[in-house]
This record gives sequence, structure tokens and C-alpha cells, in this order.
Amino acid sequence: MTERSTKILATIGDKTGTEEMLEALFDAGVNMVRLNFSHGTQDEHAARIKAIRAVEKKRGVPVGILADLQGPKYRIGVMQDNVVLEEGAKLTFCREEVVGDATRVHLPHDDIFDAILPHTTILMDDGKLRLRVETLGDKAFTAEVITGGPLKSRKGVNVPDVVLDTKPLTDKDLSDLEFALSHGVDGVALSFVQRASDVIDAKALIKDRAFIVSKIEKPAALDEIDDIIRASDAIMIARGDLGVELPPALVPPVQKTLIGKCRMVGKPVIVATQMLESMITAPAPTRAEASDVAGAVFDGADTVMLSAETAAGAYPIEAVSIMASILETAEAHIATHPEDGPSALAVEKSVYHAVAQAAVKLANDIEAKAIVVFSASGNTAVRIARERPYLPLVVLTHDIAVERRLCLLWGAQTHHQAQTDYDDAIEEARAVVKAEGLGSTGQQIVVVAGMPFGIAGTTNSMRVVEL
Ligand code: PGA
Ligand code: MN
Repeated sequence: MTERSTKILATIGDKTGTEEMLEALFDAGVNMVRLNFSHGTQDEHAARIKAIRAVEKKRGVPVGILADLQGPKYRIGVMQDNVVLEEGAKLTFCREEVVGDATRVHLPHDDIFDAILPHTTILMDDGKLRLRVETLGDKAFTAEVITGGPLKSRKGVNVPDVVLDTKPLTDKDLSDLEFALSHGVDGVALSFVQRASDVIDAKALIKDRAFIVSKIEKPAALDEIDDIIRASDAIMIARGDLGVELPPALVPPVQKTLIGKCRMVGKPVIVATQMLESMITAPAPTRAEASDVAGAVFDGADTVMLSAETAAGAYPIEAVSIMASILETAEAHIATHPEDGPSALAVEKSVYHAVAQAAVKLANDIEAKAIVVFSASGNTAVRIARERPYLPLVVLTHDIAVERRLCLLWGAQTHHQAQTDYDDAIEEARAVVKAEGLGSTGQQIVVVAGMPFGIAGTTNSMRVVEL
């Protein structure tokens, strides 16, 4: 059982889909895996899911699988070779299919045509090219090139200024979603969420077959962020696309604000993208990357994510090991300098949160060796984790789906709960804490549960238990 509280979510790709590589990744510290449906075929993902479950069974440690749907990612059509857009030039975006050149490109997205106005900013190729819309027409619109550069076929298009009238799930997403659910993934990540209704609609489709992670990567999402957080099971701060749509300088304050908001309501929050980007090609991170990973810990993130570093990079295992060591070092710093870590939350008025808060204070005051949570749904675990207690958080639950979901939750070390009677479960808690080497006979733990026992939803009891 790891002592580390901040979790690692690793993207699995060509380089890491084999049982051998997966085992090495888990040994290095991966807690949950992401399958990125922007890349690869369903058959490739099916093979990865099979390998992940095989390794999970072999190691006996539950692993959550997150299916990340591509969402409405916009792209231009096919271009001639060697096209370069010059600053000040005019470029026409056409609805009809044309082979693009330096004067016109094919844009196969009616919803962009419907939403833009004169002066709307159009970004291409991850924001490297910037244009401003000038004149609108039925079949085409024209824009001036503000920042030029080479433009190749099928490059991505972003339109950050406007709310686009898109469903967050394209036909491809709907197909990938049914595929992923039928292959037993635990969570689904929605890309380019713009409104709370996007999440609510997806939930109506997914029901309780998987939990929902909303990826915050559109400025429009920030206008409805409280409702989006409430509708979601977890949030991903998707800094890649977010940093294209917003000036990169705004990404750090957005990160801090979102982590704070998620923690307030106890929703797990993932910090994603470019965390150890240079390790795609190098065996060691930059100092700035090390600082970024530690910064997510200091901000209070539940989980940090690796993308191409583990999906396609040359040093996937090293990236995970280094990430784990940065996380552990930052957490050790907070343990001795709590003022550098996530701030204490205000006293809660809800009974459930207040009991969790009191249990953490109690555990600290009596120097308990661990907090043990009996959690049918995972909610009691979330309420304790929200306090960021710097002592082991052991979660006992009957449901492996809950164990897999809690792979994203700060600090949660899950165990299968065999007992259904409260007194028997207390005995089981003693045994687990001792077996994990967290405490020994005569030492104390704090046990938190909802009563009546085994019913999901409540958190209303705590008890000091001697080992
Ligand atoms: P992506 O999402 O890797 O699917 O683009 C993450 C991000 O945009 O940061
Ligand atoms: Mn993205």
C-alpha cells in the first residue's frame, strides 16, 4: 500500500498497452489509466482493456479505467503541400470541399459558420496560427491572418470567443461510448464541455454505468463552472486545449480556482497535460515541470495526469517514477509545513461534512494511526479526503466499482470489505490496518461510517478503536 496521497492517472497507448508494460507502470505508481479515444481503433482499445484487467487481477489491486471521448474537436480539411499563411493575408473558409491553399481552406463544421461574427478569433494548429473574421457569407467567410505560419491538412481549429451549438457527443463519441461501457470501463471523460446541460444529457445516457469526468477546456465552461462541477462526478483541468482557448497566463489561476471549487464540494479534480512533457523524449524532467507537478500537490489536486509521456513517449516508466517521487516529496514538505499545502476549509454546516471534519480533527488530536472509512458508495471517503488529512485513509467497501472509482480520490487506499455487520467490520478494520503495517496493538484508529450500516449516502458516526 502506497503512502502517497496524490494519485497518478496515466494514458495508455501504443507504447504501453502490453501486460508487461502495464505491470511496470503500476509498479512504478500508476493508480488509474486513461484510454484516449482521439487516437487508435476500438479493437486497439479492447486489447488494452483486456490487458489492464488481466494485470489488475494478477496484482490484486483494483484499477479504474477512464474512457476519454474525443468530443467535438474541429479540424480543417485537406491542404496542398507546403502552404504558409503570411501575416496580413486574407483566408477564406469554405463550407464546400476544396483542397486548401494560401487563399482558402475547407472547414466542414456548420456550427462554426452559425456562431461566428465579425472580429471572432479563429485559432489553428493548437493556437499557433491566429486569424480574425472580417466578412461573413452563406457559403464562406473571410478572415485576416494575424499570426501566420505553415498550415497542414486536418489541423485543429479553435473558436474560443463563442459558445458553439454542438452536442458534446459526436456520432463517433456515441459509438465509442457504447463500446467503452460494454467493455466495462469505470469512468467516461467528456471533452469540450461547454454547459452543465452537456453533462446532464450525458448522464441521462450513461446512467450509473460509469462516472463522468468533465474536461474543462473551453472558456465558456468557466461561466457555468459551479453547475458543471455539481453535475459531474469529477473534473479534469485539461490545460492543453484550455491553454489554446485562453491565454496561457490565465491557466494557473484557473487551475487554482477550479481545485478550490472542487474541493469545497468534494469532487475529485485532475490536473492534466504537459506535466512532464519533456520526458516524451528525455529521461529527466525540466525543473519547471518538477515545480508544476509539486504545485498541483500544493494546490490540493486529487490526481495528476500523464498524456503522451506514457502513451507514446520514450520513457513511460521513468515518467511515472519521477512523478511519484515529486508527489511524495511535495507531500512530505506539506506534512512539516502545512501552511504550504491546501488551506483548511471553512466549518461545514452539512451534517455529513461536519462529521467528516470532526473525525479528521479527532484523529489528529489523538494521533491516530489511520482513519478507516466504511463506505458503500464512496461518499464518506470523499468527505474525509476533502479535508486532506495527512494520515492514512483506509476505505473499506463491498463494491469493486467503488474501489476502482476511488483510484482518483486523494489519499484513498481501498480494501474489499467482506463483513456486513458493524462489529465484524470493526474487527476487519483492525486486521487491515495491522496487515498493512499502519499501526500495531494498543494504538488507535478512528472509524467513520454511516448508520444504519451499509446504506449508501450518510456519514453520521465516528468511533475511536484500539488495535
Ligand atoms: P486531450 O485533453 O489530451 O484529450 O486533448 C487534455 C487537454 O486538452 O489538456
Ligand atoms: Mn483536450
